[in-house]
Amino acid sequence: MNFLEERIRKDGIVKPGHILKVDSFLNHQMDIALLDEIGREFKRRFSDVPVTKVLTIEASGIAIAYPVAREFGVPMVFAKKSKSINIEGEMYVAEVESFTHKNKNQVIVSKKFLSPDDHVLIIDDFLANGCALQGLISITESAGATVEGLGIAVEKGFQIGGKIIRNLGYRLESLAIVDAMDPETGAITFREQP
Ligand code: 5GP
Repeated sequence: MNFLEERIRKDGIVKPGHILKVDSFLNHQMDIALLDEIGREFKRRFSDVPVTKVLTIEASGIAIAYPVAREFGVPMVFAKKSKSINIEGEMYVAEVESFTHKNKNQVIVSKKFLSPDDHVLIIDDFLANGCALQGLISITESAGATVEGLGIAVEKGFQIGGKIIRNLGYRLESLAIVDAMDPETGAITFREQP
């Protein structure tokens, strides 16, 4: 087990509805040493690609993307959730359905912060059905920038997102892949990874 799998097993809570709660260390209270380790691990895994920007989505992606951007020495940009419609022209826009809240949001990134010269590493905390990642890919490609890879802290391997993103041909690295979890017993099964 790697450091994140160990921590999930220790402090993660399995909720009904395929939700894994990690709010004591990852996305409400944050363990800064753990986040720093996540940053170093993504730098190691993507050390062979040129990265000029790290892109994520608010809110909980920001905490993961920050240490990654620091390791690469590049800016971090986060897509903002917006209800505003008067944004055509200055913004890249994608529609993202929230897995946890079941509503749809437009997410936006200012055209000032992504350009065709950019090589983008997309980072998020969770991968479930893949809507958030597909929105971020769409924004990156609208800018004419290159998606160099996608890094996820926790992929729920029993949901469809990972398969969709890999089938599209993107390089996706997940630090922990949960293949099964049981809300009754709290048991979590991780996928073996090299
Ligand atoms: P997707 O777009 O892949 O369906 O869902 C990814 C987004 O939903 C992530 O940005 C994350 O914030 C949220 N999410 C999905 N599944 C979970 C989960 O089991 N636990 C938590 N805390 N967030 C989740």
